[in-house]
Amino acid sequence: MVDVESLGCLSEEEEQKWREIHEMESWKYQESCSYCGKRQYQIVRAPGQITIEVWRWNTGCYACKKATPVVWTINESSGFIWDSIEPCTLENLPNAIEREYPFFKEVFKKTMNVKAHGNTCVHCGAYMGDWFVWHDFLEIAYYPETADERRMISVELTGDEQLYYANPKRVFKMHHPRKGEHSDLCPDCFALYKKKKI
Ligand SMILES: [Zn+2]
Ligand SMILES: [Zn+2]
Repeated sequence: MVDVESLGCLSEEEEQKWREIHEMESWKYQESCSYCGKRQYQIVRAPGQITIEVWRWNTGCYACKKATPVVWTINESSGFIWDSIEPCTLENLPNAIEREYPFFKEVFKKTMNVKAHGNTCVHCGAYMGDWFVWHDFLEIAYYPETADERRMISVELTGDEQLYYANPKRVFKMHHPRKGEHSDLCPDCFALYKKKKI
């Protein structure tokens, strides 16, 4: 069985918050052993630091028509986060990308009326819109070898993000004996059941 202590599980209060954020039905991941009450799932906090794969490739600037590099995020590499991560999804990610790629910097995004990080042309400074870069990325996504560079960028998650991206983890396989009064048994209790002790 998995060592539950070492997983970094959410407290009861945090789990409640996590359920509210994700509008999760209250019965989900609540399965527990009908004899000892042990839970089949633990809600594990996301790590404090994760690694995101970032691709860099060249595209044509719409303003000056020259070739300029752009970057976009691929997946989180440990496989902990299943949601897609865009360059501005995480609080600390934009600055982490800018440290590696200074052309990814704060700009004014007119369509959204916000100041946020985006790709800019290295020649004329024009903001290369997220929508444009994302669609360009879709073109090359199937041919990873066409990316000029694929770099792993490590980024620290905030406490809220660690909670938001928490994952349910199944810590044991439930047994369902067909006879007797116990319909859901954890492996320990199932062993007792087989020895006819419960
Ligand atoms: Zn049990
Ligand atoms: Zn340009």
